[in-house]
Amino acid sequence: MVTKKKDIRALTLEQLREFFIENGDKAFRGNQVYEWLWQKAAHSFEVMTNISKETREILESNFVINHIKVDVMQRSADGTIKNAVRLHDDLVVESVLIPTKTRTTACVSSQVGCSLDCKFCATARLKRMRNLNPDEIYDQVVAIDNESRLYFDRPLSNIVFMGMGEPLMNYNNVLKAIDKITSKEGLGMSPKRITVSTSGVPKMIKKMADEGVKFNLAVSLHSAIDAIRTAIMPFNATFTLSDLKESLEYWYKKTKSRITYEYVVWQGINDKQKDVDALVSFCKFAPSKVNLIEYNPIDDGDFQQASAKAIEMYVRSLERNGIVVTVRRSRGKDIDAACGQLANKT
Ligand code: SAH
Repeated sequence: MVTKKKDIRALTLEQLREFFIENGDKAFRGNQVYEWLWQKAAHSFEVMTNISKETREILESNFVINHIKVDVMQRSADGTIKNAVRLHDDLVVESVLIPTKTRTTACVSSQVGCSLDCKFCATARLKRMRNLNPDEIYDQVVAIDNESRLYFDRPLSNIVFMGMGEPLMNYNNVLKAIDKITSKEGLGMSPKRITVSTSGVPKMIKKMADEGVKFNLAVSLHSAIDAIRTAIMPFNATFTLSDLKESLEYWYKKTKSRITYEYVVWQGINDKQKDVDALVSFCKFAPSKVNLIEYNPIDDGDFQQASAKAIEMYVRSLERNGIVVTVRRSRGKDIDAACGQLANKT
């Protein structure tokens, strides 16, 4: 059945207060309902016990509460948790909880499927089905915060937009979700603990810089040579490295905040000295950090993790040029929760 009722969680506090005034009630009722929706994460109007039955019926006939539902939760041997999250229209996205000794990081999705076509990524095969709403993004974070408290006895500490989708192609909703996550009516989290990862949409990187956002930026680079990057990330033909670099220079000028690059080194693709040299000259204009991510095989072997020697060469050259470098081991591989493996297999 197609419902004409509006999703009440798409309303701002102000709009909710207005709704009650228009219906001859007190604006304050809006605050009460807002608190139920956001602080108490109510899934139905029924549970709103300090609201009269009459008012709840009015709400019921005007609105729905489109809450996400964690359909399947899988736990990896290394403690990583993956949630398969069912949306109100029955589509599914995945989000991941990554624990370390001191932190819990939530890796959340921004789209169902993905707008982009990276050859090495399982999510790309799903194609983009739709953007997530701000509350669907927010709910993934809350679900992981709850799991962190339950299983690790501590709240969520960090968020990375590195799940399914390209966050900068769902920019407005991602920003609204981050506003909620950082606001005191939401989770009150510092934007410094949030990282938005992009394959590089130059126009949107500039827009973010102009808007003075306070979260961190990560760029999935994988190659600083156009021909190679276009072969593995075909959208690079449109959003070329020189445009990307120009937008990052703009970002740095405006925000003065360090840029992180995500980078997988593959055998025979980008494992030569010339590849490192190109990377160094691409990112040395600003304080940078390169995360060398381990490759998580997704299929037939077109892509293979480079040798330890090649990784060492990267580390040495980057360090010699004053670029911070970390080599990241994958987490949650056994449950297909690692980078690039999110593909709704369950
Ligand atoms: N679209 C955004 C957000 C996704 S983040 C972006 O590209 O940044 C997911 C990260 O995992 C990206 O850095 C992506 O390049 C990387 N990735 C994709 N497939 C991978 C794989 N098979 N192994 C390791 N990393 C992968």
